[in-house]
Amino acid sequence: MSSPTEHIKRQALELGADAVGVAAVAEFHRHAPEGHRPDDILKGARSVIVLGKRRYTTGQWLSSNIDTVHRARAGQGGRDAAAFAIAGRIEKDYGHASLMINPGMFDTGLVPVMSLKLPAELAGLGTRSMAGGIILSRDHGLMGFAAVVTTMVLDPDGPLDEPVCPDAACVALYEKTRRTPCMNACRAIDGDIEDGRLKRVRWYMQLCATRALTTMNAAYIRLLPEIMAEPDPERRKLLAIGQARKGIEDPPGRGIWGRCIECMRVCPVNRRAHRLEKGEPHAQQAC
Ligand code: SF4
Ligand code: SF4
Repeated sequence: MSSPTEHIKRQALELGADAVGVAAVAEFHRHAPEGHRPDDILKGARSVIVLGKRRYTTGQWLSSNIDTVHRARAGQGGRDAAAFAIAGRIEKDYGHASLMINPGMFDTGLVPVMSLKLPAELAGLGTRSMAGGIILSRDHGLMGFAAVVTTMVLDPDGPLDEPVCPDAACVALYEKTRRTPCMNACRAIDGDIEDGRLKRVRWYMQLCATRALTTMNAAYIRLLPEIMAEPDPERRKLLAIGQARKGIEDPPGRGIWGRCIECMRVCPVNRRAHRLEKGEPHAQQAC
């Protein structure tokens, strides 16, 4: 018979997660600032279950149409729904208070209520990378995360023994040029590699946020003066209120922003994770 931890993990995978792991809340006290720990959010929390889901399919990585990338966020809703369902099942089956955390929950500005990178790393789903500290999974490359904070004691996984980044190919390139593929793709990324390990990672958040996080309210507020200065009334209306607000994925201002993932497009770990085993040969090579 499987343990409750194994049972909950299996349920998460059945609900659509690509990867799942468990972190002990006690570990957060060594790393996370007060006010942003799981037991600051749910009194008596003991465990965090982290659900990882690939951000994009291989086809989306191959597409040059930014809307297909932007719209792929809808697929992450399934990840959040899975986390919400797991929280509910723990309450029903085991009687422990549980809540779901997704990446859209912010305290102030870009500060999340709770980091999802930290539990993902503590639960062994990947390690921080040169590319702005993105958590890279060896099996899945770039993933999005949601978490369940619970008062239930579960068996923690612990972090990976070996870092996923830098890849051997990046180490070789760095030794020759002092650059990695992600550094070459983006000026927001800088750092040093020593003895095949990340020694220092420098990420210019203000550069990345204006390219990668442009679907957020902060971006809309930043663009508001330019929207109001648009002379064409029809276009001004489109920019200000979106394309008739067809759904939740049609936020105001849609049509004026992009969504940057260039550092991951060139990352060998991500490319390898998304290589297809079957299909068109050019698709296998392109990813
Ligand atoms: S997401 Fe885009 S802007 Fe941000 S670090 Fe990667 S390449 Fe640079
Ligand atoms: S390209 Fe990927 S594996 Fe290589 S250093 Fe950058 S994030 Fe790490």
